[in-house]
Amino acid sequence: MGLLWADLINSDWHDYLGQGRDEDRLEKPEWIRRFLARWKLPPVDAGSEETQRALADLRSLLRRLMLKLQAEKPLSGRDLSALNAYLGAESIVRRVERRGDAFHMRVAPVTCSLDAVLSEIAASFADMLVNGDPTRIKMCENRDCRWVIYDRSKNRTRRWCAGSTGCGNLLKVRRFRERRKKDAGRPSGGRGSARQQRRL
Ligand SMILES: [Zn+2]
Repeated sequence: MGLLWADLINSDWHDYLGQGRDEDRLEKPEWIRRFLARWKLPPVDAGSEETQRALADLRSLLRRLMLKLQAEKPLSGRDLSALNAYLGAESIVRRVERRGDAFHMRVAPVTCSLDAVLSEIAASFADMLVNGDPTRIKMCENRDCRWVIYDRSKNRTRRWCAGSTGCGNLLKVRRFRERRKKDAGRPSGGRGSARQQRRL
């Protein structure tokens, strides 16, 4: 399922096939509605300009911080203040609940406001800083894609988005095709057709 903060950054979607169909999904109220539902966030007005702009502003901040972390640059006091401004904008309630044999702390916003939505997203980024490992943040190695991923693999070997069905597979197929094209382009027995094919 990924991470809430990464999901917001990835709403700035790049066409992984490199066909220039990039889109800003924050311009699509339907995408925002699904995003809110997916993360059990308060169902604020997904069609309002205020919501779209506020989410885009937070996305810019998180993206900037994420790129710093990825480049192994330290976050400044200013960066943390910007993040803390979102965290402090909303009150939360904590409840302890039982899940089977274990106890679980549930943290929920007091109100169903836009501030609560922004605060929850910022909190997921803060949680990654505190409890996760920023050096596991990566971007899909397909340059057309650049999907943000958090590498949970033991040896930190993840290179592509969405595992075998994503860009890794896509590039494997592409490389295979290129190799086949090259092989087909090699002169074979002096016939002209192979050379012609190479020019296509
Ligand atoms: Zn990808």
